[in-house]
Amino acid sequence: MAAQLIDGNVLSKQMRAEVATRAAALTARGRQPGLAVVLVGDDPASQVYVRNKVKACHDAGLHSVFEKFDATLTEAELLARIDALNADPAIHGILVQMPLPKHIDPHKVIERISTRKDVDGYSVLSAGELMTGLPGFRPCTPYGCMKLIESTGVDLRGKHAVVIGRSNTVGKPMALLLLQANATVTICHSATADIGHHTRQADVVVAAVGRRNVLTADMVKPGAIVIDVGINRNEAGKLCGDVDFAGVAELASHITPVPGGVGPMTITMLLVNTIEAAERAG
Ligand code: NAP
Repeated sequence: MAAQLIDGNVLSKQMRAEVATRAAALTARGRQPGLAVVLVGDDPASQVYVRNKVKACHDAGLHSVFEKFDATLTEAELLARIDALNADPAIHGILVQMPLPKHIDPHKVIERISTRKDVDGYSVLSAGELMTGLPGFRPCTPYGCMKLIESTGVDLRGKHAVVIGRSNTVGKPMALLLLQANATVTICHSATADIGHHTRQADVVVAAVGRRNVLTADMVKPGAIVIDVGINRNEAGKLCGDVDFAGVAELASHITPVPGGVGPMTITMLLVNTIEAAERAG
């Protein structure tokens, strides 16, 4: 493998140590940062994500509240619960784990979270702040990808970045963050005619699709930085990303693994956003 591995576990460890220091300083002033994690239903993947988030809070000295509800919870009941968390001074960040059961409108739920506590950065206001370059909560996964890219020491100014995927939670905010860092940005999606045509010109590629082998070696410019957001399973049931890791790692200058790349950084940036929410609260 020619590429240097961008190790999300190592970077996360460093950043979580900084989070713990900031959390301890706030706690010493009587304001321990607090995150509420809300889960509705029994989705097994969501349960793992939520457990990891709560554990990460605990390990970094944050207060965390985990609220788990049956899939039969009504939308009105969930909104009422969010109102209570909005009013709770011990809670600085609120995360509602997606996906929600079909009878609950996720947009309504996200917009109900106080903008001061929107640590997932999914609200329309947070999206607008990102788009206009105002300070605000950045969505954790693309925010973590930016930290991974920054850790390479490569300046994005004037570089060509290609994002594959245009979801509101990953692809679009990723493109905006890259643009803010002065990259020239192309967004590819399911209707893009020839993704390789774009990625072969890219200095940075971020793959955020959720499909194996979206990016293969023949699609990569030698020396590119490759960030793999995707979470998939191969035929053997092993976790893998969107990138053909073995092939692309021969050409790229830097590459993230799956697991151990973007995943741990997503949780780390949630902690960072929660600390920032608590610091802003006074
Ligand atoms: P999503 O909402 O399903 O969006 C997927 C995007 O990929 C869409 O924009 C879609 O295009 C595009 N797409 C689908 N097929 C494509 C193809 N053949 N070629 C090019 N683009 C294609 O997914 P997401 O929430 O953004 O997540 C993407 C992946 O990242 C998933 O595997 C998810 O599990 C993973 N993820 C990981 C983390 C982490 O912490 N590691 C966090 C979040 C997500 P259209 O818009 O045209 O349909």
